[in-house]
Amino acid sequence: IMLRVGVNGYGTIGKRVADAVRAQPDMEVAGVAKTRPNFEAERAVAKDFPLYAAVEERADQFGEAGIDLAGMVEELVETADVMVDATPSGIGAENKSLYEEHDTPALYQGGEDEDLVDTSFNARANYADAAGADHVRVVSCNTTGLSRLVAPLEEEYGIEKVRATLVRRGGDPAQSGRGPINDILPNPRTLPSHHGPDVKTIFPDLAIDTLGLKVPATLMHTHSINVTLDSDATADAVRDLLRDESRLFVIPERLDIDGAGALKEFALDAGRPRGDLWENCIWGESITVEDDDLYLFQAIHQESDVVPENVDAIRAVTGSADAAESVATTDDALDMGF
Ligand code: NAD
Repeated sequence: IMLRVGVNGYGTIGKRVADAVRAQPDMEVAGVAKTRPNFEAERAVAKDFPLYAAVEERADQFGEAGIDLAGMVEELVETADVMVDATPSGIGAENKSLYEEHDTPALYQGGEDEDLVDTSFNARANYADAAGADHVRVVSCNTTGLSRLVAPLEEEYGIEKVRATLVRRGGDPAQSGRGPINDILPNPRTLPSHHGPDVKTIFPDLAIDTLGLKVPATLMHTHSINVTLDSDATADAVRDLLRDESRLFVIPERLDIDGAGALKEFALDAGRPRGDLWENCIWGESITVEDDDLYLFQAIHQESDVVPENVDAIRAVTGSADAAESVATTDDALDMGF
C-alpha cells in the first residue's frame, strides 16, 4: 500500500520533505499547501505536486498569479493518511485542530512546543514511541544532530554528561532579514540554551548542558562537543562506532574539508539535491579521547537533517515499518552516505 502524505507549509523544510516522500517506494505526495503564490508555489506546480491553498482569504491570489489550485487545505487533510506540518514556529499549534477534525495523524517540526504532541521523535533514538500517536514532533535540526550522536555513545559506553556549545548560523540563506551580520552573540545569554532540555524530550535521563552562540553565517551550525563517558574508550574505537551509523558522516581527513563552505561544495559536487547534507558531519580528526572525556566537532545542515527523520516518522505513526526497516528504506531511497 502507498501512504498518502500531505505537506502543509511548503518552505525550507516542507519542500525538502515533499521531495523525500516522493522518492520513497511506499509513499506518495497527496499534495502540498501554501499560503501564497511565490516562487516555491510555482516550483511545486512545475513538479506536479497538487497545490492547495492554506488560507481561505488568500486563495484568490493563486488564480490571479495563473496558478491552478487543487483545492483548500481541508480537502488535503481529509484525503491524506498523514500530514506533515512544516509551517513556521507556532503555526503548527494553530493547525492542530484542523488535523484532529479530520482524524489525520500529524507531524510537527522543532519550532513547536513539546507539550503540543504525544511524543517528540528521533528515528535513531525513540522511533517506537510514535507508534499509533496522533501528534508527533520531529525535533529541531540541532536536537536531531545531538540525538543521533548521543544514541550510539549511550549504548556503547554509557554517558555521564554531555556538554555542547552550539555555534548557530544567523539565518538560512534565503532569510535576508536575519542576523547578526557583523557580530558574535552569546544566544541565549543565559544557560542552558533550550537545546539541552529539548534533547531530554528524547533522552529523559541524560545529563546534558548546552550553550548557544549566533554568528554571521548561513550555511550550517557547528557543535563543539564534550561527552564524559561512563566506560573506557579510545578515539579509534569511537571513530569506528560513529562511522557505522548511517546518518553520521565521519569526514575523512584526506578530503581536506575545513568548514561548512567546503562541506556544502562537496555536497553539491556529489549531486545532492539543493546541496543538502542529511547526515551529521563529524570531523574525523577532531575525535579525541582524554581520560573519560570525548571531544569532537560536528556540522549540522539545518535545512535538511530533519528531512529523513520526517520520512521515518510517517512510517512510525502509521505502523507500516519498524525502525530498522524504515531507516534502511529511507536511506536507500535518498542515497544516504558518501
Ligand atoms: P519557512 O518559513 O522556510 O517555511 C514555512 C512555510 O510555511 C512558508 O512557505 C510559509 O509561507 C508557510 N506558511 C506560513 N503560514 C502558513 C499556514 N498558516 N499554513 C500553511 N503554510 C504556512 O520555515 P522553515 O524553516 O521550513 O521552518 C518550518 C518549521 O521547521 C519550524 O517549526 C522550524 O522551527 C522548523 N525547522 C526549521 C529548520 C531550519 O533551519 N530552517 C530546521 C529544523 C526545523
